Amino acid sequence: MLSSLTPLSQGQLKLLETCPRKFQHVYLEQLGTPVSPEQQERLAWGSRFHLVMQQRELGLPVESLVEEDAQLQHWVTALVNTATDVLTPAPQTFRESEHCRTLNFQGYLLTVIYDLLIEDETSAQILDWKTYPLPKNKTWLAKDWQTRLYLYVLAETSDYLLEQISMAYWFVKSQPQPQSIKFTYSNAQHEKTRQVLTRLLKKLDRWMDDYCKKGTPFPQVSEEKGHCTDCNFAFRCQRTSETIMSDRTDLLPNLADIQEVSI
Ligand code: SF4
Repeated sequence: MLSSLTPLSQGQLKLLETCPRKFQHVYLEQLGTPVSPEQQERLAWGSRFHLVMQQRELGLPVESLVEEDAQLQHWVTALVNTATDVLTPAPQTFRESEHCRTLNFQGYLLTVIYDLLIEDETSAQILDWKTYPLPKNKTWLAKDWQTRLYLYVLAETSDYLLEQISMAYWFVKSQPQPQSIKFTYSNAQHEKTRQVLTRLLKKLDRWMDDYCKKGTPFPQVSEEKGHCTDCNFAFRCQRTSETIMSDRTDLLPNLADIQEVSI
């Protein structure tokens, strides 16, 4: 059950915004949905990739981690050879992988984990490794809660000017070589995120209150949005006439609902 200062991640905000009822099922009731062997393998691979990049950043040997996985070795090498400007430590900079920050916001602890944070006197850059293909639509990525929350929390927990902050995603498996998409930051974006967060968390307060005191379920997303079609809670939500494999508590969380892989 949520309480004050409960950590809230970008994945949780994303789910809350997409469908509050699904947030209730996944995070409050801890109902799970099936994860296919392929999804599990993708998750495990992503986890190994992040571990290698963290070890490398710490100056620890990575040979034992990659020697039995030629694909992993290939993509790590490709990233290291392509992202030379961010993966070559420069003097007078602070660098940390798996860097965690929290921000108390309206009684919730907004929590972020940066794959790599690089700071110098005049700039702060968040790096994030993605092991899925480069998205065609950059606008979608700009609106993603990961981008919005990661930039917002860094701005609120540092002395950098907003224009000095940026975030870059590296799509490790892009062909013919890893590619990046970088987002700069501004006062307008920061203010917008603050307003959206304020509204969303006020709603969460209200939904939580009604859920705890009166047993009122969180609202369902409108069917027209199309999210119910492939949702594992469709039967429970009476959004399908078919009995599908759902609502089981002995299964792992839905891949789409779990957080970014971190070590
Ligand atoms: S079936 Fe639809 S309303 Fe129910 S949790 Fe899934 S997305 Fe939300």
